[in-house]
Amino acid sequence: MMHYRGKVFRPPFEEKSLLIEATVGCSRDKCAFCSLYHDTPFSPSPMEDIESDIRFIGRNRTLFKRVFLVGGDPFCLPFNRLQRIGELIGEQMPRVETIGCYASVRNILAKTPEQLAQLAQLGYAGLNIGFETGLDDVLAFMDKGNTADEAREAFARLNEAGIPFTLNLVMGLAGTGRGTENALANAAIVNEAQPQLLIVTALNVWPGSKLYDYVEAGEFTPPTLREIIEEEVAFLRATGLEDTFFFGMHELNPVRVNGNLPEDRDFLAAELEAGIGRFPADQLDAQIRQIYRENGLVRRTGRMS
Ligand code: SF4
Repeated sequence: MMHYRGKVFRPPFEEKSLLIEATVGCSRDKCAFCSLYHDTPFSPSPMEDIESDIRFIGRNRTLFKRVFLVGGDPFCLPFNRLQRIGELIGEQMPRVETIGCYASVRNILAKTPEQLAQLAQLGYAGLNIGFETGLDDVLAFMDKGNTADEAREAFARLNEAGIPFTLNLVMGLAGTGRGTENALANAAIVNEAQPQLLIVTALNVWPGSKLYDYVEAGEFTPPTLREIIEEEVAFLRATGLEDTFFFGMHELNPVRVNGNLPEDRDFLAAELEAGIGRFPADQLDAQIRQIYRENGLVRRTGRMS
């Protein structure tokens, strides 16, 4: 039997992956916009449980081609642990081609370039990273734990090591009046990073998050729905990507689009602009949180990356 001690979340593109729990909770659990793991103290999963899960699946000769290690950010595990997990998967599940997990900029920078190259050799690929924003003051306000330059450095190291990755961005994270600025800062870093996949999600202010308290205290003003959509358009138009899948289909997104960049860029931007016309003006110009509250869509917990 598999061991799952904590909450299990996976990105939408991992629906066919074998999920193996490597950590419980998030090693940071501080980001102001996220309340997902507040009730789950962080701990690495016992290595004997991970090994038992890998051997269990291996004995059953399954057809999985990809493993996604679950937990808030399993890439926080020390290199030796990630190496051992990769080796065990290779021995016990020879059909598995790649191993992914959630990762943070800090997790990546804690590994040397040589260690990242060794993990790439073991099949680590498709890391899912909460980039969120390229604006330093917003990263600091949201207590993300890294600067924009550190994000740049982490993405460059992954590219150097040959580990493809996904970046998550939160539209509206800079607050009202700063959508274009956020879009351009994000695009500058994303263009440099050339991720395999971009996941774009509209900001939501989750009850239980520090951001919720900041809004209540008047320290942060969320953007309007119109600003969220316009920021996504500005971001798309500023992208210079060579081969990236753009996924903007999260249920929080007011207009949902997805496609390949660069070829679908203008089409996606036009779809988003057309989507603005489908909302009544009072909704478009209300802060996003008010809309979710009025429509009964406020949820108890949530993750943005
Ligand atoms: S956003 Fe990611 S890194 Fe930040 S607290 Fe939530 S799960 Fe942890």
